[in-house]
Amino acid sequence: MAGADPRDLLLRCALSNAVKHGGVPQAGAVIGMVMGANPELRSRAKEVSALAKDVISEVAALSPEDRRRKLSEIAPEMLAALSEKHEHKKVLPELEDAGKGVVMRFAPNPSGPLHIGHARAAALNDAYVKMYGGRYILRIEDTDPKRVDPEAYDTVAGDIRWLGLGITETVYQSDRLTLYYDLCRQLIEKGGAYVCTCDNERFKELKMARQACPCRDQPVEQNLALWEKMLAHGFREGEVTVRIKTDLLHPDPAMRDFPAFRVLDSPPHPRKPGAFVYPLMNFSVVADDHLLGVTHVIRGKDHIANTRRQRYIYDHFGWKVPVYRHYGRMGIEGVVLSTSQMRLGIKEGTYSGWDDIRLGTLRALARRGILPEAVKNAMLAIGIGETDISFSWDNLYAENKKIVDPVANRYFFVPDPMTATIHGAHPVVSRLLLHPADEKRGVRTLAFSGNVLLPAAELADRTRTLIRLKDLFNVAIEHDHGRPHIAFAGDSLADARAAKAPIIQWLPAGAEVPCTLRTPEGDLAGVCEAGVQQELSKVVQFERVGFAKIDAVTDDGIIAYFTHK
Ligand code: GLU
Repeated sequence: MAGADPRDLLLRCALSNAVKHGGVPQAGAVIGMVMGANPELRSRAKEVSALAKDVISEVAALSPEDRRRKLSEIAPEMLAALSEKHEHKKVLPELEDAGKGVVMRFAPNPSGPLHIGHARAAALNDAYVKMYGGRYILRIEDTDPKRVDPEAYDTVAGDIRWLGLGITETVYQSDRLTLYYDLCRQLIEKGGAYVCTCDNERFKELKMARQACPCRDQPVEQNLALWEKMLAHGFREGEVTVRIKTDLLHPDPAMRDFPAFRVLDSPPHPRKPGAFVYPLMNFSVVADDHLLGVTHVIRGKDHIANTRRQRYIYDHFGWKVPVYRHYGRMGIEGVVLSTSQMRLGIKEGTYSGWDDIRLGTLRALARRGILPEAVKNAMLAIGIGETDISFSWDNLYAENKKIVDPVANRYFFVPDPMTATIHGAHPVVSRLLLHPADEKRGVRTLAFSGNVLLPAAELADRTRTLIRLKDLFNVAIEHDHGRPHIAFAGDSLADARAAKAPIIQWLPAGAEVPCTLRTPEGDLAGVCEAGVQQELSKVVQFERVGFAKIDAVTDDGIIAYFTHK
């Protein structure tokens, strides 16, 4: 900005400050900011401070809308930066070197459906791409056929659609094998890699003793010949490894000449049945991060050792290293996350499928009525901090509740129903709002004509003498004749409140529909309003019980999944 007009600089700064904070800034603050960014103005301090007063009063005279409009005329980039920062400021720290936009990626292995652990990388990278602008690459990391589940290609794609990520392009690593082979050849030519034919155990002994294996010093020509032999399937599985030259004296043995390519004779790759030379993840990740122009990588701390290994490859090629952030570990309790355990459980019939609600998959969350926005918001709230944390289901539920509470229709669900005759009450039709905050949504009608269904548990407490049936009337209960005797006790809500009477849900006997509420702890058998039949696939609120997703509506009744309180 050398040579820029100081008045213009002051005006931009004052306007941006006023828009950001919703008030006119102090002259001193504006002067400080402008001088800090433009040290050449220090010699003109007097002039700048006189101009500042002038500019401040100009800004003060404008309405908030006019300040915004003026800023958008003279410095649209400042206005844009303000609104972007404002949106994400609370949750995500800035990334370095991101000002010109970013290229980021989400890189799952197609070994099973995505679970809540994956959602963190998926959501954070997504949010940063939205924050800075740029591209978001979905990279399917399928170069280990032993860990590929052919069905998972579709499953993962479906999970990503559900999450609603802003993916701009998708690449499959199995489509890119020849790119990796070319780079391997280049790396061998540079002396950065060698083809090792040592017995694996022998190599390990040497590595632990910080010694080179005989292959390490082979001339480049010999390495190239061995590489060609490898590509021509002249080696069987286990006979050969391409290794990256690192530092044999590195204190961590896992850094010493780690493997980059291997031969696998089986199983056949589901997408490339003829393939047998495969890169290991450190090589393919670096190759693609470089080739795809990835600028920023956000991944878990469990990748820190990989980041160290990957640097050796960047250094050999002389490539620019992306900006890395490694977030802390996230313990997730209460659900099964291990793909092999899930798969086994499904096979044995312990779990009904990948969306069984005892599993931590995104499918299971969806089935229970957790919305993708809630998952993403919960992950952004956790952020990219390095501290290890345990995942809070309560926070996820709170995020979900913010979204479903304003939209979920209300109904009565009566668990373990007991029929009761209400003595002394006239028939009456109760009209209840579908949503307490939105009368326009309409009402549900429950016609009382003598007998009601009540939750048995509510009548089990023999000290209870007064209960209010929600939006109906109060009833008095006498317990001394075995079966409780229940009688009309007035309409007044105030009386019920004064007596601290519980307000409970009820249904007219005869109008109920059977409903099973599935919870992770087991099924709750009950009955609900017939209107729930119109809510298939939606989340409703069963008053006093909690939110639930209506999973199935059949002639035998309704199946609902408990979402949260
Ligand atoms: N495919 C790797 C994983 O799922 C991610 C690799 C990376 O983020 O660099 O763990």
